[in-house]
Amino acid sequence: MHMNAYGNLVSLSEDKKEPLREWTVTSVADLGKRLGSCSCGTSIRYLFRITNEKNLNTLTLGSTCIKSVTDESWVLDVITFWLEMEAGTRHQISHHYAKDTKRLHLLDDFEFKFLLSVGQKRKLYGKQTETLDRIKEHVIDRIKCGGYKMWSDL
Ligand SMILES: [Zn+2]
Repeated sequence: MHMNAYGNLVSLSEDKKEPLREWTVTSVADLGKRLGSCSCGTSIRYLFRITNEKNLNTLTLGSTCIKSVTDESWVLDVITFWLEMEAGTRHQISHHYAKDTKRLHLLDDFEFKFLLSVGQKRKLYGKQTETLDRIKEHVIDRIKCGGYKMWSDL
């Protein structure tokens, strides 16, 4: 199944030896249910649209196949984490995810420090809840607009 998606990616690339350098994640969506379709044929909930910078070919992959074809699986971990936050299946933000989110330039300094101090707390005060909700919204908006390289020169 992964070979299938990778095979499709190679066939749509200019450089057949190092195809990943040409591809960027250009948008991400959570369909809520498995309503989408991966390039390998599997039905998918999380939809990653990737674009080839050289020939503008596009491909749609699910979270499993995109992890299997990129060298930067930590990037996809961060993205999936935030989509799960948005869907409400996750609630706390560990230091690990705060740091990786910062590494992707999805947080400014204030937001990063805020997440380090309150991201893991179960109970927040009114103002803190508002700030956390605003940060979540910002991060998720930025993620959905894409722009992530699938190769290591991030
Ligand atoms: Zn797939």
